[in-house]
Amino acid sequence: MNNAEILALDKANVLGTYARQPVALVRGKGVRVWDADGKEYIDFVQAIASNVLGHCHPKVVAAIREQAGNLIHCSNLYGIGPQAELAALLVANSFADKAFFCNSGAEANEAAIKLARKWAKANRGSGAYEIITTLKSFHGRTLAALAATGQTKYHEGFEPMPPGFVHVPFNDLGAVEAVLSDRTAAVMVEPVQGEGGVNPALPEYLKGLRELCDRDGILLIMDEVQTGMGRTGCLWAHEGYGIRPDIMTLAKGLGGGFPIGALLTTDQVASAFAPGNHGTTFGGTPLASAAAFATLKTVLDQGLPVRAGSMGEYLRRRLSGLQEKYGFVKEVRGLGLMVGMELAFPGKEVVDRCREAGLIINCTETSVLRFLPPLNVKIQEIDQAIEILDGALSSDRTE
Ligand code: PLP
Repeated sequence: MNNAEILALDKANVLGTYARQPVALVRGKGVRVWDADGKEYIDFVQAIASNVLGHCHPKVVAAIREQAGNLIHCSNLYGIGPQAELAALLVANSFADKAFFCNSGAEANEAAIKLARKWAKANRGSGAYEIITTLKSFHGRTLAALAATGQTKYHEGFEPMPPGFVHVPFNDLGAVEAVLSDRTAAVMVEPVQGEGGVNPALPEYLKGLRELCDRDGILLIMDEVQTGMGRTGCLWAHEGYGIRPDIMTLAKGLGGGFPIGALLTTDQVASAFAPGNHGTTFGGTPLASAAAFATLKTVLDQGLPVRAGSMGEYLRRRLSGLQEKYGFVKEVRGLGLMVGMELAFPGKEVVDRCREAGLIINCTETSVLRFLPPLNVKIQEIDQAIEILDGALSSDRTE
């Protein structure tokens, strides 16, 4: 099937929840991807930060092939070797003592919300259930994760939202302090807001949140679904801020493109959950765990977090060069290889022109072009992407 045939079949049969780009991707290798008409692209979306090693990294492909021949899935009713090994690798390389596995970011956040409520009821009193989150946050599409998400546009039509969430402006410590009460169970925050427009937290903000949580005996939950796995220049973004959360949620990059999510926490917080309190049929299957183990091991062995830091600096420098050239580029911002370029107008046409010229990027918050290359991206690949973007911007408005 070619692009047109796939898209026609898709339109006729798949529920229309996505505004599809007019191409169907069929093959990928590293930073590159090909559509069904054979056209090649540089992919700076990489499944929205999921393919941290690029498309079809040989180590991930080999791990999946080998595990698929042994055991794809059993059940969490039994011990799962690859899951235990993945948990041990995560624990050895993080603040956490324990890991829980699920399938997506929304599910990881659901687990975090449940764990925080259970912990707070036991440790702060039966009236403690509220989670403070930030405006412009994004925590997922299931109902509680959606209620946690501080963007009303995602709530509209799905009300009533589950109660127990309070939204405050991002990077505003005073706003958090003002809503803290006996009802508070936790504060939940992305170290860099992704869907909300690539907005990094200020260092004093995350440090201040940690202090407030310690002062009042409430939990700090870091949603690292998009920032985790080395993307921001540290293995976990909070490390770069010099703080530790009580709970961290992961998904996206964890499986190198294979679906898996996780919640990491300390023994003290983990003790709030007993057998039967939470679970999922597919969480941490042998296959997903093997893919994630191979991904994390490769990220660690190849020092990719540090590389993401330096490549991110280079990418931001090149984008800042374009900002000097085009007056309509308002700001270039981000951390590591999670980078945004805010335009003075909607970015859709720029995204379209880039795609036509062979570069895949996306746009969030209407006017923020988002760049999420794999962590092993090369300088020449960044240069090539910048050249295409320059061409796409040059044919845009010149005000
Ligand atoms: N949390 C953050 C920070 C995200 O960026 C996303 C997805 O974009 C999610 C949660 C939800 O993850 P998923 O789409 O895997 O449910």
